[in-house]
Amino acid sequence: SGTLYLVPTPIGNLDDMTYRAIETLKTVDLIAAEDTRHTQQLLNHFEIQTKQISFHEHNTQARIPELLAKLQSGLNLAQVSDAGMPSISDPGTELVAAAAQVGIPVVPLPGPNAGLTALIASGLVPQPFYFYGFLGRKTSDQKEVLAEIGQREETTILYESPYRIRKTLAVVVDVLGADRPVVLARELTKRYEEFIRGTAQEVLAWAIENEPRGEFVMLLGGNPNPDKPAEKLITDDLPIAEYV
Ligand code: SAM
Repeated sequence: SGTLYLVPTPIGNLDDMTYRAIETLKTVDLIAAEDTRHTQQLLNHFEIQTKQISFHEHNTQARIPELLAKLQSGLNLAQVSDAGMPSISDPGTELVAAAAQVGIPVVPLPGPNAGLTALIASGLVPQPFYFYGFLGRKTSDQKEVLAEIGQREETTILYESPYRIRKTLAVVVDVLGADRPVVLARELTKRYEEFIRGTAQEVLAWAIENEPRGEFVMLLGGNPNPDKPAEKLITDDLPIAEYV
C-alpha cells in the first residue's frame, strides 16, 4: 500500500516550512487538505504542483473510505490542516486511526505547533503539561472544565479565539482565582508576536485595555496545592461581571 504522511504547515511564518515538508508535498500523489483554497496559497509559494482533495470536519466520515482505498491502491497521501500539526485541534485523528487499523504506514513529520511554541517561551514550568485545546463556548462548560484544570499541578495549554479571550480570562479569574499565573502568546511567528505574562487578574486587565486581535494561545500555571481552594482576590476595579 501507499503511505499516509502527516505534514505540519506554518502557523504564520512561511519560513517555518521544513525542507522535508516541501519535499513530501511535492512527491506524494495527493494532498488531503482542510481547506484546499487556503493550502493552494502555500503550494503556490513553494511551487508545489500536487493535486488536492478536501478533508475537513464536515466530510471526514465520507472521505475516509475513499482515502483508504487510494492508499491501499498504492497512492501516497499527505494530510495537512490550515496551520500547524494535523490532528491537534484539527482534522486528521480519525483518518490516522483508520489507516493504522488496516496496516497502512503512517509517517508523521515534525513541525510547527502553536501550543508547544507558546509553552517554551511562556516561562511557566514546561513539564508535565496538559494540552486541552479549545475550551468551548458555553460559560457553564468553561467553568466545569476550568474547575477540573484548577486542581491540576501541571501547566495547561488552551487555544482560544480573539473574540472570546476577554470573557474566558474573566472566567479564569472567577474559577481559578486572581493570582493564577497566566500567559497569552499572541500572533506566534508573525510580525506582531507578543507575550503577555502576569497573574490572571493582570492579564485580564491587559485584555480589557487592549482589544485582543490576532491568534492566541492561553497558558495557565499549575496549582501547587491542588487541595487548597482557589483564593478569590478579585478587586473591585475590574468589571468582571460584565464578561462572565
Ligand atoms: N493544528 C494547530 C496547531 O498545531 O497548533 C492548531 C489549530 S487550531 C484550529 C487554531 C488555534 O491555534 C488558534 O485559535 C489559536 O488558539 C492557535 N494558534 C494557531 N496559530 C497561532 C499563532 N500564530 N499564534 C498564536 N496562536 C495560534
